[in-house]
Amino acid sequence: MKLRFGLQARFLVAMALVLGVVLLVLFVLLQRQQQMREETEALSREAVHRLIDSYLRDHAQSTARQLAQNLANPMYYRDLDEIGAVLRDNSRSNLVRYIWVYDLEGRLVHDGSLEIAGYGQRMDDPLAPAALGADGPQVQASPELLDASMPIMVGSERIGGVRVGLDLKVAERFEDRNLEVLGKRMDELARRHIGWLALPLALLVLVCFLAAWYVQRTLVKPIRWLGTSARRIEAGDYTVERLHSRRSDEMGDLVRTFGRMSESVARHDREVRRMAYTDALTGLTNRLAFRESLDHRLMLLRGAGRELALLFADIDDFKRVNDTLGHEAGDEALLQFSNRIREAVEKYGGDDALLARFGGDEFVILIQEGDVRTAATRLAEVLVAELSRPLVIQDRQVFLGTSIGITLFPEDASSASALMKNGDIAMYQAKVAGKNGFRFYSRAMDHAVERRVHMEQELRGAWERGELSVVYQPVCRTSDGRVVGAEALLRWHHPMLGMIAPSVFIDVAEQSGLIEGIGPHVLRAACNEAVRWADMGSGERLFVSVNVSPRQLRKGDLPDIVADCLRETGLPASCLHLELTETAVISDELQAAAMLARLHSTGVKVWLDDFGTGFSGLSHLRRVPVDGVKIDRSFVADLQRDPDDLALTTAIIAMAHSLGITVVAEGVEKEAQYNLLCERGCDLVQGYWLSHPISATEFAHLLARRGR
Ligand code: C2E
Ligand code: MG
Ligand code: MG
Repeated sequence: MKLRFGLQARFLVAMALVLGVVLLVLFVLLQRQQQMREETEALSREAVHRLIDSYLRDHAQSTARQLAQNLANPMYYRDLDEIGAVLRDNSRSNLVRYIWVYDLEGRLVHDGSLEIAGYGQRMDDPLAPAALGADGPQVQASPELLDASMPIMVGSERIGGVRVGLDLKVAERFEDRNLEVLGKRMDELARRHIGWLALPLALLVLVCFLAAWYVQRTLVKPIRWLGTSARRIEAGDYTVERLHSRRSDEMGDLVRTFGRMSESVARHDREVRRMAYTDALTGLTNRLAFRESLDHRLMLLRGAGRELALLFADIDDFKRVNDTLGHEAGDEALLQFSNRIREAVEKYGGDDALLARFGGDEFVILIQEGDVRTAATRLAEVLVAELSRPLVIQDRQVFLGTSIGITLFPEDASSASALMKNGDIAMYQAKVAGKNGFRFYSRAMDHAVERRVHMEQELRGAWERGELSVVYQPVCRTSDGRVVGAEALLRWHHPMLGMIAPSVFIDVAEQSGLIEGIGPHVLRAACNEAVRWADMGSGERLFVSVNVSPRQLRKGDLPDIVADCLRETGLPASCLHLELTETAVISDELQAAAMLARLHSTGVKVWLDDFGTGFSGLSHLRRVPVDGVKIDRSFVADLQRDPDDLALTTAIIAMAHSLGITVVAEGVEKEAQYNLLCERGCDLVQGYWLSHPISATEFAHLLARRGR
């Protein structure tokens, strides 16, 4: 853990500094006190010394004077006994080293002892000459002695002298003793002083500790707590215990405000998460949340050796609902679908099932209970059956199917992204296989997808390389059975794969945008061919009808391309019919109406292809100015079996005729169908029963054979 210089540490350091300064001041004070003590002691010693010295001098002098007076008489009479008595009275103190009485020549007369050992001898000590030489009182000192001398006078005559010697060593000992006592007193005083200083110091330390504790409790602890909580919130953990405080100060305010703020952040986060993780339309889990959940579950399952199935469901041709009925209807359809899926998943998916909408018309289901392959199969069957039941939207019955791709963990893949990709591939294959069904993922499917990508690359430049060609399927008139025109249909002969079905490559061309380049080539080829048909026979001219993809229509330059083509080839405009799909026209009625008007102005005719497969209904025919409708072959196929289809076909024919629109039926494979259509008044027919699509040469032969 990284150590930091936090609030508490700072405060403690500040306290330590204060204490340090106080201790330093104290140390200096004590130092000064010690110095003062030493100085005081020296001064006291000097004073005491001086005091004792002056006392000794006075004492010696007064003793000498006193003795000189008292000894005047006995000295005069040389009464040695009396002199001895006077001297003994004064020499009792141990301070007095000697008292000597001497005559005018400096010879010793008495020293206070009984035997007077030195009687009559001259004094020869170092202080003697000065004492003898002095006229009056004289005090002199050596390191060990203090000597006071006084002449003994009778009247004004000097008859001798007295010397008193005081022992300075004794005085010194006395002085030392006194100073020792003084020192002891001063030591005691200093100790008392230190005692008085230690008390406030201890108090100061206590105050520091109390202040540190208080700051820790009231500032550091709450701030630390706020810091920890803030860090947890920052990391997305909102489980922080509720922050509240009873304190009425600024810190209390801060804690309460922080508490409210964290609650509001948590609320906001919940809301954002809810929005980020659910699909707004259906309320189901969205792609993001699903992906997270899938990752999490895979992590748990990996170790446990358990299985999981992913079902990718995509509504077939859902775009048509949006395009023809509008986006509101599309949303309504999605809602109804999601409800049906939810019910099915609740019933058959098991407790751990997870349903998500991936946006658009894609739903994904995750199941992980029991034998997932069997469970997924059953759920897929139920979903396909449930979702193909008609929906009622805006009082209209809408038939939609669903294609489902299923992939298994860990059989097919072990990572979430690989599983999602597999699911998508399997779903796409279910669509390719005819829609409204389900497929389990297999490795072979990867190749199918690769093939599609490959196909796009190979389709590029295919026209220039001569791989693409146009075939013609004759269109006959029911009234006399004559061929009146032909539909131009594109074919691709791949150098390696042979013939490729238009249902496969047209889709690729449409989605990749290649159709925008190929379309005009087909148009030009068809027009060129149709011009040649004029020479084959006489009278009525044959038309050629060319399919136009929604993409070409959206691009906007179609009328110009058509006009150019007609001009270049010389084909009369009335001989060119354009087949637009119902979906392309209906998805944007306004734009389509404008486009149709521009196309009409070139003189060509416009037909609505695959009529009936969209949801446009008959009423649209009134609003979109077309010249003809081509009834989709799925209606024609069921004409004999399904009375509804027959009724619808009959209604379309009647309605179209009432609007002056030509009706073409495509996919006529049987005579019976042809007869029924003739009966109902259908104008033109096209289908294998009459002729398969054939090459231009074959078509020319056919025209020649029939002799038109
Ligand atoms: P479509 O325009 O509806 O064309 C009619 C389709 O019905 C053709 O399929 C034709 O071969 C097929 N057909 C004709 N009579 C019968 C019959 O009796 N029974 C059955 N089962 N089918 C019949 P094809 O040639 O496979 O074309 C499929 C679709 O590809 C066309 O449907 C059209 O939408 C598109 N297509 C073909 N050529 C072009 C083209 O040059 N440009 C564009 N944009 N689309 C094209
Ligand atoms: Mg067509
Ligand atoms: Mg058609």
